[in-house]
Amino acid sequence: MKFYILTLFPEMVLGGLATSIIGRAMEAGILSIEAVNIRDFSANKHQKVDDYPYGGGAGMLMQAQPVYDAWKSVVGRIGHKPRCVYVTPQGTTFTQAHAKSFAKEEDLILLCGHYEGIDQRVLEEIVTDYMSIGDYVLTGGELPAMVMADAISRMVPGVLGNEESGMAESFEGNLLEYPQYSRPEEWNGRKVPPILLSGHHKNIEAWRRQQSILLTQKRRPDLLERAELTAQEREWLAAQGTTP
Ligand code: SAM
Repeated sequence: MKFYILTLFPEMVLGGLATSIIGRAMEAGILSIEAVNIRDFSANKHQKVDDYPYGGGAGMLMQAQPVYDAWKSVVGRIGHKPRCVYVTPQGTTFTQAHAKSFAKEEDLILLCGHYEGIDQRVLEEIVTDYMSIGDYVLTGGELPAMVMADAISRMVPGVLGNEESGMAESFEGNLLEYPQYSRPEEWNGRKVPPILLSGHHKNIEAWRRQQSILLTQKRRPDLLERAELTAQEREWLAAQGTTP
């Protein structure tokens, strides 16, 4: 999968992504992440890319032309118009389901705003999806683009060493992941739950499922409402004192 991240801060994006699992996938050629510097497309001799908003108001706005030309440079090179995501607090909240869906794309453009955002006209011209990473305002779209690129990349086949590690994680089936333990068996007076040392895989699986359900109920009751629980699991949960 190929990401094209349109940004004023390419070094920030590449520095943050080209390490660890994502970096290894890039080296292996499974992923490619290209940061396209919007400033390189400024028609202004001082490479200016922002200006005052019409009608007044605080701050500066990224101008349409350099953003459009940066997008056109990608589209021209690859010969088609891939989905172009503008990361913005005004977008749909990005979830694991979106990560999985975007991971099916061969090419994806992520557009990072800065200052007060981007001239509306170019957004209407090139953007296919508006995505937010949460209900707060950041100074720029670079961190959101990195968050999205990371989450999407993990869902691209071959990026995670063990294909299954992406399957049994939080948000699968609208449940949070169960608690996990590693060596030693006892640390700071706290013991690993004995069932995990039993070697009985079926019982371990059942225990983990119950722990997932309990944890989701405690921390994310909103998720649990959407989880697919069996009638038996609902009964069991009710017997714990609460219902989903
Ligand atoms: N004036 C804009 C508003 O009120 O909606 C906020 C602009 S913000 C200071 C600058 C840029 O950061 C945005 O154009 C966007 O690309 C990015 N950004 C900020 N918060 C974000 C969030 N929660 N999710 C995605 N992108 C965000």
